[in-house]
Formats: sequence, structure tokens, C-alpha cells
Amino acid sequence: MIKYDVCFVDLDDTIYDTRKLKEDIYKLFQPFGINHEQFIKAYRRAAELPTPGYFHYTFEKQIEAVREFGYEVSENILNDLNNLLNNDYLLSDAGGFIRYLKTICAKVILLTAGTIEFQKRKVEAIGADKMFDEVVQIAGGKDQVIASIVKNEKILFINDNLEENMVIKNHFAGVDVLTLYNYSYWNEEDCERSKIPWFKSLNDIKNYLQSK
Ligand SMILES: [Mg+2]
Repeated sequence: MIKYDVCFVDLDDTIYDTRKLKEDIYKLFQPFGINHEQFIKAYRRAAELPTPGYFHYTFEKQIEAVREFGYEVSENILNDLNNLLNNDYLLSDAGGFIRYLKTICAKVILLTAGTIEFQKRKVEAIGADKMFDEVVQIAGGKDQVIASIVKNEKILFINDNLEENMVIKNHFAGVDVLTLYNYSYWNEEDCERSKIPWFKSLNDIKNYLQSK
């Protein structure tokens, strides 16, 4: 039974195993001597723009950021990094989850923020362009996408980014926002404080939606 007009689903760390990609990227940088903690700092420097929810990650920026931490990184790494984007990093329960969403939502949209070309390669490698009714790629500002359609539509919004989710919830009280817990950036107390329903797996979200 259709319960929502539109459902937005995030890509990174929601249906795409970005944590695994990040670990694979780290393995390529490890031989240059950088430790994991510093690598994560360099990753965030490469990925995040000053405005929350806006991202501009590229492998070139990653190399630059690791070099800024004082490591000599050879240019040859770029080819290996680019090859990672051919891997299928779709999370194991994501396919079934999206099929379920299609039974309760008239339209299921993949909404991802980041560097357009970079995100597009990830989307295509996991076949997400075929799984969703639509793919919307933006640099950031997911709230503006919601604002453009929020009028009379019943909207479901599924995303791991707690900060973005709180912005959506504060601006659009009528939107059903659900958080997929991302332990790399937040802890359980942060999730509790947000007052937004949060879950540890897509399957848990499915069970919640089924019981509503
Ligand atoms: Mg995400």
C-alpha cells in the first residue's frame, strides 16, 4: 500500500558502503607512512566544505590533503584509486530495501550530495541508476530539494547524516525523517538527542516502516 508520495534515500553510508571504500582508499595510502587517524583527518579535509552538508571529495583532493600532512605521495596512486570506483560497494541489504520502499512510496529517489562526476561513478558501479525512479545529484543543501516539492506531498527521507537530518526535520516538520546510524561520525547519544527515529540497519528501518 502506498503511504508516501516521494521517498529520498541517501547514497554514502546509507546504501553504499562508503566506510569500506574509505578503508580501501586508506590501504593505498598506507605504504606512504600515514596512520589511520591522520588519514581520516585528511579524508575529511578533502571531502567537507565549510557549509555543513556540502561535499567536494575527489581523489586529487585526497592526494593533496595527505601531502599537506607531510607525506610524499606518488602520482601513480591515482590510477589505483580510480579503479576502486569500479567496485560494487552496494550494502548487502540495500537492494531488497529499495524494492520494499517501492511498494510503499509512489516515487523513490536517490539523493546524493558531492562532486557530480565522482558520485555518478559510484551510482553506476552499484547499478543504482537502474534501481531508483530517479537520481538527483547536488553539491549540497538537501533541504532545498525538499523545499521545492514539500507543499502537499507526503515525504519520507532516509539518510545517515544526522546533521542534515536535523536541518530537514527543523525546516519541514511534516517530513518523516529516519536516520541510519553512522558510528564513524556520531554516537548513540547524538542520535537520541536528535529526537529523530534512528536505526542500526536498513532492515531495522524496513521493520519499523512495516509496523507503522
Ligand atoms: Mg550519507
